[in-house]
Amino acid sequence: MALSESWYGAGKYVDQFISVKVGYGVGVALINNKQQIRGYTDGFGEFGHTKVAFDGPLCSCGNRGCIETFSSEKAVERYAEEQGLKKIV
Ligand SMILES: [Zn+2]
Repeated sequence: MALSESWYGAGKYVDQFISVKVGYGVGVALINNKQQIRGYTDGFGEFGHTKVAFDGPLCSCGNRGCIETFSSEKAVERYAEEQGLKKIV
């Protein structure tokens, strides 16, 4: 997604940018001169697991208060369940 933004989208006219994708989790990619910067394990960190609240909701990683416990599809599902809504598949 980030590479396509660098070729055709919002990143077309800049040399460096960060792309954040919010879905079932929260992912991020760093683009520098049309190339994706990759980490040791081929990814770029675990942005969605950045802690933003010490006593926040339990995350799938085992920690509490990660970004994706507040802003992801999982967070929406958890909030809906807390409000008594039932999931329709
Ligand atoms: Zn987490």
